[in-house]
Amino acid sequence: MAILKVRDLKIYYSTPFGHVKAVDGVTFDIKEGEVFGIAGESGCGKSTLVHSLILRKPPMVHMGGEAIFKGKDLMKLSEEEARKIRYTELSIIPQYAMNALNPTKKIKDTVWDLARDHGYTDRNEVEKLLRERLAMVKLSPKVADMYPVELSGGMRQRATMVVSTLLNPDLLIADEVTSALDVTTQRVVIELLHHFMEEGIVKSIIFVTHDLALLDKIADRFMVMYAGKMVEIGPTEDVIKSPAHPYTRMLIDSLPRLGVHYKRQKLHSIPGYPISLLNPPKGCRFYTRCPYVMDHCKEEEPPLVKVGEEHYAACHLLGGENQ
Ligand code: SF4
Repeated sequence: MAILKVRDLKIYYSTPFGHVKAVDGVTFDIKEGEVFGIAGESGCGKSTLVHSLILRKPPMVHMGGEAIFKGKDLMKLSEEEARKIRYTELSIIPQYAMNALNPTKKIKDTVWDLARDHGYTDRNEVEKLLRERLAMVKLSPKVADMYPVELSGGMRQRATMVVSTLLNPDLLIADEVTSALDVTTQRVVIELLHHFMEEGIVKSIIFVTHDLALLDKIADRFMVMYAGKMVEIGPTEDVIKSPAHPYTRMLIDSLPRLGVHYKRQKLHSIPGYPISLLNPPKGCRFYTRCPYVMDHCKEEEPPLVKVGEEHYAACHLLGGENQ
């Protein structure tokens, strides 16, 4: 069963030079009980996409499409309706842990403000829950009485995870939560996200990252975005083993491999730079960097084509049955 259905979603940024088409007609579902990954280079629209589900503030503008979450279109919620479901039904662990924690408040005070705002009246009960959750992420209960600046980067990230999940949201968005962490702390964060699912604290997770190696460890399915478009989506194993879109293939080939000496062997990189989203081309947005580009790639947008079970990609090279 889908917990979130996104259909032809368009989220642009309004600028003095025109609209930046950051998310431009993206369609996907997230099932209950799955970890869904969103991958792509910086500026591909992945963070804009997930932030638009939680909070849209100028210059971000909703230009079309819908995001149906538990029967409600997130794009049509009033600020008050959105505030009510934030943390209780839909929550985000932001990229920078400090963004979620008030630097002038102790962790327990931040948590109490949040709980009270959602109708909780018993502070002792909330603090008991906070201590239980701190223990779950292997933090001392003393952290409740500390200010964010007193915590190390890894501790702050875990405290942020506790705050974001305290009220048991159905859908949790983890936005590049591991990018500023060392490899050991990254592993801890991944394990904790799995633990939150196993304990029923969250039902589904959207995991946003530029790191395909991490997605391979955590995601059941994932989609790849390029220049505001979804270019490939499918079960993680299938996409990693048999990428259908040239961009996905190049992303996978650019991953360093253990045991390979890159002084002697070149690490594959993707040539060129992403296009400007102020005035993107009408055809395939990857054509300026694609080694297989054909004339019609520059004129016609490639349709999404089925390439396997629940596996789709958008490239003119692919034959098969359209979605
Ligand atoms: Fe390359 Fe054309 Fe496929 Fe785009 S549609 S990825 S330019 S072959």
